[in-house]
Formats: sequence, C-alpha cells, structure tokens
Amino acid sequence: MNGFENYEVWWVTGAQLLYGGDAVVKVDCHSREMVEGLNNSGRLPVKVVYKGTANSSKEVTEVMRQANNDARCIGVITWMHTFSPAKMWIHGLQQLNKPLLHFHTQYNAEIPWETMDMDFMNLNQSAHGDREFGHICTRMRLRRKVVVGHWTDPRAQVRIAVWQRVAAAWADSQDMLILRFGDQMNNVAVTDGDKVEAEQRLGYHVDYVPVSELMEYHKKITIGEIKALVAEYFRLYAHDEKMENPESEEYAVIWNAAHAELTLRACLTDKGAKGFTTNFDDLGTQDINSPKFVGFDQIPGLASQRLMAEGYGFGAEGDWKSAALYRTVWFMSQGMPKGCSFLEDYTLNFSGEKSSILQAHMLEVCPLIAEERPRLEVHFLGIGVRKAQTARLVFTSKPDNGVTATIIDLGNRFRLIVNDVECIKSKPLPKLPVASALWIPMPDFETGAVAWILAGGTHHSCFSYDLTAEYWEDYAEIAGIEMVRIDKDTTIPAFKDHLRWNEVYYMLNKSLC
Ligand code: MN
Repeated sequence: MNGFENYEVWWVTGAQLLYGGDAVVKVDCHSREMVEGLNNSGRLPVKVVYKGTANSSKEVTEVMRQANNDARCIGVITWMHTFSPAKMWIHGLQQLNKPLLHFHTQYNAEIPWETMDMDFMNLNQSAHGDREFGHICTRMRLRRKVVVGHWTDPRAQVRIAVWQRVAAAWADSQDMLILRFGDQMNNVAVTDGDKVEAEQRLGYHVDYVPVSELMEYHKKITIGEIKALVAEYFRLYAHDEKMENPESEEYAVIWNAAHAELTLRACLTDKGAKGFTTNFDDLGTQDINSPKFVGFDQIPGLASQRLMAEGYGFGAEGDWKSAALYRTVWFMSQGMPKGCSFLEDYTLNFSGEKSSILQAHMLEVCPLIAEERPRLEVHFLGIGVRKAQTARLVFTSKPDNGVTATIIDLGNRFRLIVNDVECIKSKPLPKLPVASALWIPMPDFETGAVAWILAGGTHHSCFSYDLTAEYWEDYAEIAGIEMVRIDKDTTIPAFKDHLRWNEVYYMLNKSLC
C-alpha cells in the first residue's frame, strides 16, 4: 500500500510579462529543467508536475482552482523567478485549499561576475521576487512551508521531500475513517476529545461499531482462512515448536488470535476504514466458558500488532486520536527503514544518568520497531472483561534516536506535542512477556518528563525512528494546530513561557481554535 504513487505535487512559477514574452519562454524552459531535476534527484517520494508560469491574477486563480479540484494534487510549490507583483496572487491564494510550499530558489547558482548583464537579471530575480510573494502570504496569514536553497542542493530537496510526505499523509487523513470497537475506557480524560472538531480540523471521521456487529464478521471467517493465517504466523515468527501441535492449548489460543485478526481485517476492509480502536472491557457478550462460545477470547492483541505493521491506525482503550495519528505516522514513513509504533509510557526506570521510561502496552506494540525477529508467545492476560491466555509478539526494540508525538484536546484547540527521544538497549521481561522499547526523553529524563506533563501529554503516543520534528512542524502548519516541541534545547522556564504565550495566541486567533 504505497500511497505516494497516487499523488502529485504541482509546481507553479510566478512571472509577469514586463520583460517581454521571450523572457517568460526562457523561464518556462528553466522551470521545466528545475522540476525535472527535482524528479530525477531520487529524493522526492511524490512526483512534481510543472503547471506553467502564472503571469496574471486570472492565471493564478485558474491554476489554484484546478489544484483544489484535482484529487491527485496534494499540494502546490510556488517559485517566483522574478518580481511577480503579489496582488495578482491574492484571489488564487484565497481559494487554494491544498498545502503550500514556497521554494525560494533560483535557476542560476553562483553569480557569473564577468558576464552578468540585464538579460541574465531578468531571469534570476527571485532574490526580490520571492520576498514580494512571501510578503503577501504573511499579509494574508497563510500557513505554508518556506524552503530556501538551490534546486540542485540535496538539503533543499530533502526539506521538500519531508513536506511531500506530510502533504500526502494529510491527503490520506482527509478521507480517513477510524472505527471504534467499543467506547473509550470509562473515565479516562486524555484519550477522549471532540470528534466533530477533529473532523473539521484534522480531516478524519470516527465511527462506533458495536462488537456485536464485529461478531457478524467473525461468524463468516472460514476454517481454511484461519489455517492459512496460523501457518503464516509459524512461518514469520520465532516460536516454540510444541505450539504447532493442533492438540495443544497454545495452538487453540493462536487459532483464536488468527480468527480475530481475520475478523478485524474483514470489517475494516468492508467499511473502508484506515484505523481502529479496541477496549479490553468490551469483547462481545458471549460466555467464554460456554461450549458454544463464539468470539474474542481476550483483546485481539496480536491482530492489532500485525494490522499496525500493515498501516492500520491503532489506539488502545478507545483512543481514536492515537489511532488516527499512528496511521499518519505510518503513512508519512512509508518506505523508510526503521519503523514506527503506538506506545504507552509503561513504567519508570530511575537509574541516575541513564534514567529512562519503559514503553510497552498490554499487547499492542508494532513489530516494525523490533530489534530482532519477533517471538510468538501465549500467556495469561488477567486484565479486562475476559481474563484468559492470549497470543502476542514479544520483542525488544532497536537502540536509536526517534521522535514521539501525541495530540491532545485542550477544550478550545488541539495541541500536538512532540518529543525527541533516545531509545536505549532494553532487556527481556521474562515475567512480563510483552514487546517494549526503552527510551530517554530529550533533553534528559527529568526535563523531558516535566515538559511533557506540563504540556498535558498523553500516556499514549505515536513513535517513529524515521521521522524528525520537521515532519511534525509541517503537519501542524498544514493542519493549523498548536505544536510544542521538547528537544535537546528545551529548558523548563522557557517551555513554561512558550505554553503561556501560546495560550494567549490561540485565544486571540479564533480561526485556529
Ligand atoms: Mn493504554
């Protein structure tokens, strides 16, 4: 499921006819070469399509309208090769409802001191042209990304690539459906929030599906399908050989886990959903001790792990915000090597300089972050409406740097909280056989945890080794939501001020609340 192939980003060059038609023809050639250069750089996941020069208000408006109406177009890159008087951009920019990237670049790289003449200048005036454009964007309070650099510079190309991935994930979330199997865990505040506002502001729609309806899918799964999936588990994951004995208790539990996964996938596919939540207190009404028992014998933990790896958003205990955000994390990082997961701050490890936070969950950690081949195990899980043996993938995670993110609802707005973290070597937990990661939040354990708590952050977050805070900066800019970043430079006094100032800013900017 590589969504990038279905998308394109449009490039519009700002020009004007002051310098004569010949200059614009030349600029058109330059623009084609620049777009081709970007596409051939091998650094951009989404194809850039050149849409010509815009020389008048009418032309700007026309191309922006087309961008809005073309489902393949996920964003617009603008570049002003010269002074493109910015009043001509007002109407078009007012209408543009796709992400905007302003690329401050120039066809020519270094100044040809000996030969530079006025003809050269007519083609290489973005130094002032892009400032005129920047002014109108700021005057109109437009949210956008500004990238500065020569178009052949890998650093500029990488910054465009980041924005492309975010814009693609943004497009993906505009028709994202999240299914909730069961409600929120009762009384929990941080995982709840305003689903209507989430749809208006962030794009995704959240629906409830009674577990009784899910059980209708459960009934239709065939023995053949289950058998094939169980065989796939044994092929993919390390496991005790005795589990493969169909008479063993473990085999029966793994059979149920495969049945649950097929059930969830059938329902998600049927409804066109991109993510889901579960709740260990709502697994259907059947009596597990009855010989006629049909249904989930515990939360479908193994299924959630595997569906996350496939790209489905997941949030535990009804956490639909995390489910949607995880889908976005997965979508942005498609094709990247190190992986991502939904995680929970599980337990603290006070150990001086290396104090850290164990990240895990009852079962649901995505195997994409595993350090080694995950191990399929069956153990008792005594939490929730059904206390029973259940299957899960057990592993520790790669030591590496990453970034974790969460979105909270502050009542008048959403706040995105982003924390750079250093994952360190974890140890197996023989008495608590779940998958886990172990990290030190930046800038250090104490400051990171204080800042996260002051910001109101959840105990659930969406972690990635591959993304950086720049992705989240672009995401918050496109969505128009608050972002606070906790990183190597964070100090608590400055962070507190930042939170206070934001409080005022968002109170005054009603359009962002
Ligand atoms: Mn949880």
